[in-house]
Amino acid sequence: MAKIAMVIIDGMPNSKVDDISSYYPKGEPTKLFESSYYGWLTTTPQGLEPDTLNCVPTLLGVPKEQIPQGRAYCESLAVGISCAPSDLLLRCNPVRLRNGAIASANANGLSEEQYLSVSAAMQGYSSDFEMHHLQSYKNILILKGLASELPRVKTYPPHQNVGNNFESILPEGGPAGAMLASFATHSRKILSDALGDDIALMPWGQSAPCSLPSFYSIYGISASAVAGTEIVAGICEMMDMNLVYSDGFTGDTDTHLYEKALAAAGALEYTDFALMHINGADEAAHRLDQFEKAAFIQKIFDEAVMPLSKMLEPGSCLMVCSDHATDPISGSHKPYPQPFLLHRIGSSEHECLGEIKGTDSVWLLRSAAEGRLHSKAK
Ligand SMILES: [Zn+2]
Repeated sequence: MAKIAMVIIDGMPNSKVDDISSYYPKGEPTKLFESSYYGWLTTTPQGLEPDTLNCVPTLLGVPKEQIPQGRAYCESLAVGISCAPSDLLLRCNPVRLRNGAIASANANGLSEEQYLSVSAAMQGYSSDFEMHHLQSYKNILILKGLASELPRVKTYPPHQNVGNNFESILPEGGPAGAMLASFATHSRKILSDALGDDIALMPWGQSAPCSLPSFYSIYGISASAVAGTEIVAGICEMMDMNLVYSDGFTGDTDTHLYEKALAAAGALEYTDFALMHINGADEAAHRLDQFEKAAFIQKIFDEAVMPLSKMLEPGSCLMVCSDHATDPISGSHKPYPQPFLLHRIGSSEHECLGEIKGTDSVWLLRSAAEGRLHSKAK
């Protein structure tokens, strides 16, 4: 079978995209679009939040029922944090407050050193909690032995609650909810004293150790993933995909894009499918910087997508898509159907395939690579 590659540009659209023809950056990316199949993918399973945890497994063909609840376990796997099957894991962001409301969902503007000091300041808070620092503003919080409380705990992702009152989005539900609310409230006092700014830690994304179907069990082909951001690396690890990692893959706009393209092309020498995930556009949108986001998307095409399309052999197929929209005005994710292009290297067929289920994305790529796109897509 010809090789297939999927590029997921995290949070690429700002809003709903009705006209795909003017959606891609001008020049070569638009030319690529004009010689590709295209359409929209429904990537957010009904009733779930539009976020990477739900949308990336959907694009990889995981049924809604098997998507993990909460992202923290996937992320902890990616960075090798060990935990017991009985542990409850959460993501924990520092948030900046203004007049009691969330002004920044990731305490934008703190240095890497300050992000580290946020994590360090809470280390000795209580023996019930274990705090692990990931990249930048990201931390994992572990509540030992409380996995059974998972169904009762309710949290509010800070990036979905910018402008809302801190007190109104504290975790809740059962003893674990109460412990987390108390942790968040105390962190505000501790961190504000330490940093001279109104900063608090907000736990969210609760999860417990779980499993995902392997990529091979779904498609019967081998797969690699080129990803730096922990959530995606963890999902791919759980799906038994061969993970290609480099220190240059930062999960943000300073990532090494060309190196990712080389890694994806290299991975296709020994696996049938390669995923290249690029996260920075979503991060720029969370920083409410629409200019940084647009410039980075241009750079993604210049330094990763177009080079990868030139490295692939004729007959190979490349899909460029996104998991969800991220609005750089509000900083929040949106569940709209995601535009995609599907290019068969060496071909210039240009046709709209309409709206397609996200779980059919890899099947669509396979159909294109096997030259039977029409029978599957229509
Ligand atoms: Zn995001």
